[in-house]
Amino acid sequence: MLLIANWKMNPSSLKSALDLAREIDSKVLSSSNFKVAIAPPLVYLAPLSQTLKKASLCAQDMFYEEKGAFTGEVSPLQLKDLKVKYVILGHSERRKFLKETDELVNLKVKSALKHNLVPVFCIGEELEEREKGKTEEKLSFQLKEGLKDIFEISELFIAYEPVWAIGTGRACSFEEAKRVKDFILSFLKREKGDDFARKVKVLYGGSVNSKNAKDFINISQVEGFLVGKASLNLKEFSKIILTCAKFSRS
Ligand code: PEP
Repeated sequence: MLLIANWKMNPSSLKSALDLAREIDSKVLSSSNFKVAIAPPLVYLAPLSQTLKKASLCAQDMFYEEKGAFTGEVSPLQLKDLKVKYVILGHSERRKFLKETDELVNLKVKSALKHNLVPVFCIGEELEEREKGKTEEKLSFQLKEGLKDIFEISELFIAYEPVWAIGTGRACSFEEAKRVKDFILSFLKREKGDDFARKVKVLYGGSVNSKNAKDFINISQVEGFLVGKASLNLKEFSKIILTCAKFSRS
């Protein structure tokens, strides 16, 4: 099980980032059977890399090339150098505000795998698509395009993040998340084979908090979370860590 704190473009100072990271790190139980990763803004990756003892580092994005004339981008080699373990790719906010395409996300996922970074590949439907009964169609498309020409993996997380549930306080129902998780795994089994599907773990993201985390684990049977807003609140995130410690299966 993996719990990721996606801080997005927060907090506004290095001091606050270090304070929060230290506090979160101290709540991670060394003996626990699940992993906690912090995904801070890019500028805080280096200082956090020096600070974290128990939590892992996760990048919020990366470029697919190793080096060169790509102003503003960060490469997989640079992330590896900072001991980053996971990288979020295809987050809906990047798809929306930065116009990231499925094709670009696919290049990034391939590059992450090549450089032994563990991709946290995000997919999810818009509210309108869900209301028209097109959730599975949208997810199939994103899975097909985002994982195009990828046949071998050692580890891959797929974060199911319904766009309408992100930052809205309105989480997906536990039963719906369970249906989607099963759909993702059976789609991958069919398209990529048993071995590939076995190596994939499905996370849920979208208004996760200390009250709903337990049922997402027990009813939806997701293998972890991508947590946005609640990960900036130490009290709330600490409770989520405790819930994962209590209920996680692996
Ligand atoms: C996210 O952006 O990945 C996310 C899940 O945000 P929130 O928890 O705030 O809905």
